[in-house]
Amino acid sequence: MRKDLLQVLNPATEEVVATVPAATPADVDAAVTRATAAQRSWAAAAPAERARILRRFASVVDSHVEELALLEVREAGHTLGNARWEAGNVRDLLDYAAGGVERLNGRQIPVPGGLDVTILEPLGVVGVIAPWNFPMPIAAWATAPALAAGNAVILKPAETTPLTALRLAELALEAGVPEGLFQVLPGEGPVAGNALVEHPGVAKIVFTGSTRVGKSIMASCADRVKRLTLELGGKSPNIVFADADLEAAAAATPMSFLDNSGQDCCARTRILVQRSAYDRFLELLTPAIEEIVVGDPLDERTQMGPLISRAQLDRVRGHVEGAGAAEAIRGKAPEGPGFWFPPTVLTGLPEDAPCAVEEVFGPVAVVLPFEDEADAIRLANATEYGLSGSIWTRDVGRALRASRAVRAGNLSVNSHSSVRYWTPFGGFRQSGLGRELGPDALTAFTETKNVFISTEGPAL
Ligand code: NAD
Repeated sequence: MRKDLLQVLNPATEEVVATVPAATPADVDAAVTRATAAQRSWAAAAPAERARILRRFASVVDSHVEELALLEVREAGHTLGNARWEAGNVRDLLDYAAGGVERLNGRQIPVPGGLDVTILEPLGVVGVIAPWNFPMPIAAWATAPALAAGNAVILKPAETTPLTALRLAELALEAGVPEGLFQVLPGEGPVAGNALVEHPGVAKIVFTGSTRVGKSIMASCADRVKRLTLELGGKSPNIVFADADLEAAAAATPMSFLDNSGQDCCARTRILVQRSAYDRFLELLTPAIEEIVVGDPLDERTQMGPLISRAQLDRVRGHVEGAGAAEAIRGKAPEGPGFWFPPTVLTGLPEDAPCAVEEVFGPVAVVLPFEDEADAIRLANATEYGLSGSIWTRDVGRALRASRAVRAGNLSVNSHSSVRYWTPFGGFRQSGLGRELGPDALTAFTETKNVFISTEGPAL
């Protein structure tokens, strides 16, 4: 394979779907020049005009949901149902961001001696570096509010999943988004991604990916005091108290870590169960795991598809083989071709075993028992991450106490839902920095300028 090309494989069949050019640092430099020019006129346009164009972009995406979903299935192996949701999520994000354009206001602050106002200015050119696990929605989480706030965006998708992003850039042009304002540059992380991070013309980086790469990007940004949002890894707890509706909790548990084949930063891969309910919970969980339908992502009955690549498959297999678990619950998976791994739940591991504290990023969870509420909180917080988590209980007081005590950015009670575009999303500790989505999404792509106008003359 030539170094200047990226090969996109269908993870369910291993067939080559496409080959696309990989961007060089010179391509990134040219893209920044184009984006800078486009951003000046975009920022100067009336907010109502920007909102209109973004709504048109949303509407064009809406009429291509099925096409985008099928492309996502082919390049990422997502189930068709998930891929449709993802394409719809891009449309919804664009609509939501468009709604914010005309409400992005500064403030007037009472001060002595004059008038004080804040102005929210766009940052300029924003570099978005995306992972392969949710190629479309994650790219749109940053792109939609950044454009809405008056910025230009250069998006570098992951090496394995550039196709939906490239198609979104075409649809943007079709919708009337000005040339150069939203550009997609597929390329290698250490080459094109790094060139974006280091480019002096890029004002902010939004990076979603592994904590390891996130740390190195943070260090590069520090040299330039470049604005940065980091959405990193996770190892999220699913805390099941003995007073919970155990049937409901067990029924919801499989897809809380198997959705997207476990390649989900919010996957609830640490199942913490109160000891008095432990045996009953495993009794309920076992058939639920064994019945998960793993296979052809295009079949509407399929609940779980393949992993993204052979490298990811080898990584996940290595984790499980190295775990030495006392027992395991295993589901079914096809043989191949394709990068298949069965749903797997490991039990009997020490609480600090690598599989219990490190992100596996595959369809693998561990179950650990806890004694009481304090022990549950201690265990829930016993990793370096803090992205998501679930709390299952019928006791409202306990739900609130635990929600306050778990150090994570996105918690759900009697539910596993983490992501809604109306609500803020992001990580505590080594799961990230900053927040995306929600009512403040646009503000994250602005710089606040304070202006004081003296009414008392120059002395003040
Ligand atoms: P990764 O860190 O390997 O790559 C992510 C992106 O960074 C890719 O586009 C890659 O090309 C690029 N990149 C790699 N090295 C780079 C460098 N030196 N400079 C600039 N860019 C570089 O992550 P991945 O394997 O694609 O994604 C999986 C990870 O993403 C998991 O850890 C997962 O938890 C995390 N993730 C987090 C969130 C969140 O919102 N917190 C969401 C999805 C995924």
